[in-house]
This record gives sequence, C-alpha cells and structure tokens, in this order.
Amino acid sequence: MDFMLSLPDWAVAEMQQLPEALPTLEARMEAVIRFSRLNFERNTGGPFAAGVFERDSGKPVVIGVNRVVPSNCSSAHAEVMGLSLAQKILGTYDLGAVEMPAYQLVVNWRPCVMCYGAVFWSGIRSLVIAGSGPELETITGFDEGPIHPDWQDELAKRGIDLVEDVLHDEAVQVFKDFAASGALVYNGRGGSAL
Ligand SMILES: [Zn+2]
Repeated sequence: MDFMLSLPDWAVAEMQQLPEALPTLEARMEAVIRFSRLNFERNTGGPFAAGVFERDSGKPVVIGVNRVVPSNCSSAHAEVMGLSLAQKILGTYDLGAVEMPAYQLVVNWRPCVMCYGAVFWSGIRSLVIAGSGPELETITGFDEGPIHPDWQDELAKRGIDLVEDVLHDEAVQVFKDFAASGALVYNGRGGSAL
C-alpha cells in the first residue's frame, strides 16, 4: 500500500526558472501568488500555493500547489505539498533542525485548520501570508475550518515569526478570478454539514 502526491509539470518547469534567491518577502510572495493563479488556470488544482524558502537568503527550496482534485486527496493542500516536498528534498522531517538554515513558508493566505497544524509539526521558523481575513472564504466559498482564536499568539509561542498582509490585494484578485471562472469548490460533502 502506498500513495503519491506530485506537482504538475508546469510547476516543476516554472520552479527551474526562478532566480537563485528572492531576497524580499514581496518577491517570494509574488512567485507564490503566480503559482496560485497558474494552478487553477491550468486546471491542476485550487488557487493556492505555498513556497518554502531559506528565510535569510530567500533561496527557494520548492513551491507547492494545491492538488486535491487531481490527486483525489483532501489533504493535498498547497502547504502540505510544499512542506512535504521540502522535507523530501532536504532529507529531513524537521525543517527547524539546528544544523540547518532557518526555513520560511510563504502562502497566498492564512493556512486552513489542517495546514495550521502542519506548520507547527514541520519545524518551520517563519510564516508569511498575504492575508488572514474572511476574504478567502467569502469570495471563493472554500471552508477554512475552525481557526484557533489565538492563532497568532500560538505561532509566536512556538518561535514561528508571522508576517501578514504581503501583497494582500494581489492575492485577493486571484480569489476573485477563481470565483469568476466557475471552477469547482471542492469542500468535503460538497460543503454541507449533513
Ligand atoms: Zn490547508
């Protein structure tokens, strides 16, 4: 028994075109938002991307994209893809291990309730998001789950730096374009609690 998740071919090709390093948070987020847009435009998943970078140099490790529908896997969110691929590439389950550079996760919105947990277990030291407000859910209809009321403090308590609102409007525009495209919103049970 086995299962495999993988990035679409276009994402692998795009990654090879990235510069050696993206020194600013804006440059890292810009790349992540571009991947989030390409992912739904090319029909390879939902409008979400999550990149793992060396925090201090901005060297990209990998940018994951959402693969829920094409993989028939409800946990194949962009953050899980990015963190898991980074761990495979770097050969460690702990992205916060002492002998390694600090790693940063850059996501085009606040992680959902599952990915919020995945951030903790990954060992990542820094989280950069384009926003955390209700826009994602209200514009697209995706359910992000019951987020912890003290989610920011809980990150800080575990030594994870948080930077919010990097390229907020650009991220929101992708959600608007996704909604306008009429693409599938793949909540479990079709979004119904019944
Ligand atoms: Zn998620």
